[in-house]
Amino acid sequence: MSRYEAVIGLEVHAQLLTKTKAFCSCSTAFGAPPNTQVCPTCLGLPGALPVLNGKAVELAVRAALALNCAVRNESIFARKNYFYPDLPKGYQISQYDRPYSEHGYLDITVETKGSEPATKRVGITRAHMEEDAGKNMHEHGDVSVVDLNRSGTALVEIVSEPDLRSADEAAEYLKTLREILVFIGVNDGNLEEGSFRCDANVSIRPLGQEKFGTRAELKNINSFKFVREAINYEIARQEGVLESGGKVIQETRGWDEKAGKTFSMRSKEEAQDYRYFPEPDLPPLVISDAFVEEVRTTMPELPAARRARFVRDHGQTPYAAQVLTTHPEVTRFYEEAVALHGDFVKVGNFVQAEVLRDVQTRGLTATFSVSASQVAELLKLVDQGDISGKQAKEVYAKMVGTSKAPADIVKELGMQQVTDSGAIDEVCKRVVDESPKQAEAYKAGKVAMLGYFVGLVMKETKGSANPQMVNAALKRLLS
Ligand code: ADP
Ligand code: MG
Ligand code: ZN
Repeated sequence: MSRYEAVIGLEVHAQLLTKTKAFCSCSTAFGAPPNTQVCPTCLGLPGALPVLNGKAVELAVRAALALNCAVRNESIFARKNYFYPDLPKGYQISQYDRPYSEHGYLDITVETKGSEPATKRVGITRAHMEEDAGKNMHEHGDVSVVDLNRSGTALVEIVSEPDLRSADEAAEYLKTLREILVFIGVNDGNLEEGSFRCDANVSIRPLGQEKFGTRAELKNINSFKFVREAINYEIARQEGVLESGGKVIQETRGWDEKAGKTFSMRSKEEAQDYRYFPEPDLPPLVISDAFVEEVRTTMPELPAARRARFVRDHGQTPYAAQVLTTHPEVTRFYEEAVALHGDFVKVGNFVQAEVLRDVQTRGLTATFSVSASQVAELLKLVDQGDISGKQAKEVYAKMVGTSKAPADIVKELGMQQVTDSGAIDEVCKRVVDESPKQAEAYKAGKVAMLGYFVGLVMKETKGSANPQMVNAALKRLLS
């Protein structure tokens, strides 16, 4: 058992899903050739003036509402001054002492030893709007180059209270936050492309001590796996420092994924290092209560509420509800199939067992290999007794990637279930007559022998006989 407790606060940078940048009309599309989506404003040319993107404000307000934050009616853009080659103006337009939103919270599910998972409320200190920087690239021989396509893209920075106590809690917070932002259409949740980025502030303190220890800020950890690894490494490193009588120093550290280690980048900069001052080229940002309420009416149901509803009203298990809400398009597919078929649990089970295997998701979009109506029709064939549940899986496999009607595939495969009671009786009778010993055993009380006969009938009919009818016929013949 460690004598220390970890204290973690996260800063998340989430790109807003606007078509154009925060203060100019350049495209934000990912993957264009370097420096083709730029203009005087996002290149920082002298005299170019910023004009705020209204869509960015709307999306930022959505994020604030989803995080239970209060929205400030009048907030201020500020210049954060620092020098770096990916920042052509020499300052980033951000918000400082009057951010557009603050005082929120996010509920996450945490594992507790030996009991049910519990809900933990993590404070959100603030969310503020800012612009992104460009990208420095160092894979070009002995020179470094700069791509400014990303320069000026709209971001929200979401700062948590230091309420997290382990790497697992931090990862859970990030997953929950990412899921919410994707669900409300604010962010595409893409860690690899850098549209959802996280810095982790980590410190440790002796168990029982109230005062926080000195923190290190871990920069840009770009996967959930690395978040866990980097934080756990950092906790162990700081324990080592304290145990050997040293002091943790406040610094900014990077994560070396190859070495599996954090490394010192620079001593932590303080706010005064940035010489923040109000942005003179932009008026105060005014967000009226009426606008906030208007945005509130367009908010979709959040994932946690949706899961609760699936359990309460659809009879799904908590696990199924979780799986069916992992992506907004998966939820949409499930609800569409339910609307056509009618049975929540049957549709839910089939989506989980079969459909999800073939779904490709990318950001907000998902590509399904079948349509919701194909699935609904297929399950209806099972309900009507035309095919068995097992056959439905075969039909599904043939249907993937086609727009064929399940009924046509059933015909093609010649697997229409036999529900003709005369035909079923005939096969059952033959099977019973051919196995007198087993029939005697059944009659003498060995009821498990029924399975033996069912197996023979299914073999004879190549699985096409309706199982309920076969069971009933055999019981009748053997009694
Ligand atoms: P900065 O902008 O310099 O990074 P902030 O005051 O905005 O500083 O805090 C950044 C983050 O650090 C917040 O998420 C906060 O919860 C977290 N934090 C502050 N103090 C500690 C600490 N002692 N240990 C761990 N995290 C901390
Ligand atoms: Mg910071
Ligand atoms: Zn531009």
